[in-house]
Amino acid sequence: MAFKNAYVKSVYEDLVKKNEGQKEFLQAAQEILESLELIVEKRPEIEREHILERFVEPERLIQFRVAWLDDNNVVRVNRGYRVQYNSAIGPYKGGLRFHPSVNQSILKFLGLEQVLKNSLTTLPMGGGKGGSDFDPKGKSDKEVMRFCQAFMTELYRHIGADTDVPAGDIGVGGREVAYMFGQYKRLRNEFTGVLTGKGLSFGGSLARTQATGYGLCYFTQEALKTLKNDSFKGKTVAVSGAGNVATYAIEKAQSLGAKVVTCSDSNGWIYDPEGIDVALLKEVKEVKRARLTEYAAARKSAQYFEKKNGEHGVWQYKVDIALPCATQNELNLEDAKMLVKNGVIAVCEGANMPTELEAAHYLIDNGIIYGPGKASNAGGVATSGLEMCQNSARLSWTFEEVDSKLEAIMKNIFHNAHNTAVKYGVRENDLLTGANIAGFEKVCDAMLAQGVF
Ligand code: NDP
Repeated sequence: MAFKNAYVKSVYEDLVKKNEGQKEFLQAAQEILESLELIVEKRPEIEREHILERFVEPERLIQFRVAWLDDNNVVRVNRGYRVQYNSAIGPYKGGLRFHPSVNQSILKFLGLEQVLKNSLTTLPMGGGKGGSDFDPKGKSDKEVMRFCQAFMTELYRHIGADTDVPAGDIGVGGREVAYMFGQYKRLRNEFTGVLTGKGLSFGGSLARTQATGYGLCYFTQEALKTLKNDSFKGKTVAVSGAGNVATYAIEKAQSLGAKVVTCSDSNGWIYDPEGIDVALLKEVKEVKRARLTEYAAARKSAQYFEKKNGEHGVWQYKVDIALPCATQNELNLEDAKMLVKNGVIAVCEGANMPTELEAAHYLIDNGIIYGPGKASNAGGVATSGLEMCQNSARLSWTFEEVDSKLEAIMKNIFHNAHNTAVKYGVRENDLLTGANIAGFEKVCDAMLAQGVF
């Protein structure tokens, strides 16, 4: 760890003491605080008003019991959470994750990232995150419904269209959002835009499903154009994951003229040198909710590999662009070295914090375009913001309207991060520093203006 500024160092050291063992949270905080040293040096009021101490501490962290009945009428108990991180620039906004690994550390890392991400979209949204250690895998539809209803039966008292607006994340897609929305509506007896990612028949926005993956490609395309005078056309791409973000990143990258040769799930990965067949992928993952082995079984050109520890997985192939779209810490320093050796020119994140910090530094140091998730995957929450606008106005926009607003937002986020990197005198491909400072500045100004809270 290499903090140069004594104030920033002391904020981080205090955080380590108070959050022992919270590995993912401390990793995210370290990455952000390292970047903010430059702005702290320029703006003494940040230290004087103790902005960083307040910025890294969530405004509220709610933990609750979720008891539900499985199909055998046996009582099951999970833990639910909502981290309301920062409301300086708008109502808390951020997804819900249902995955057995969910704990305070993971949700606080995601919440802190979300504060900066939402600021970068330029829409008025504060940051939050939530979820449960519930595992939707292997559960029947009715079990998922009963869990979602039980989860919302506690969460509803903490959220609202002008207070906190959750959405999906890992393990929470359209089905789960719909069950939670239905329960909120019953409990409150009101129909408001309290969740985003809703179905189209009850207030959802066109293009929300595609938004994170498409937005990632719009961001990457703009970065390639600006920094390398290049594009997706004719490029070979590695994608990890096979969920919502991965599927629509593959679809958009291929429509922009690239060939995507990999995807993965938590059991293994696919190498398909002919290019991933997106229609088949959707059939396997979205319709059948099946594993990638079914994709391989249905497609001659595809090879399936079981995941083993220490292997490079999807990062071992010779590709021009890598888009990690599965989960945190899925691309380490060795993977980064392998990608660089094989001639990668851009690594842009669809997932949150998929690249370990030393791997991110390695990529930046080697002149690779590195798109940090808080900037490159902000298309999902940006479109959620657009869904909130449509709900408030009781209107719905066409797919093309939403998609073109999304594209404009993603291009703007790239230029904001890039211009900030240039302004602060770091490498122009250091979009990590650029995004952290650009996102922070607006939140910081709002916090300063609103007095001590
Ligand atoms: P999904 O649940 O739709 O898909 C997640 C994918 O990642 C699945 O293929 C899953 O495989 C895989 N995965 C999950 N956990 C692990 C793990 N521990 N090891 C290996 N693979 C894993 O989630 P999303 O696509 O929505 O989210 C993916 C990432 O994108 C997350 O980091 C999320 O925070 C981020 N993100 C999502 C946004 C959205 O709009 N949905 C917005 C911005 C960021 P398996 O099926 O085997 O579990």
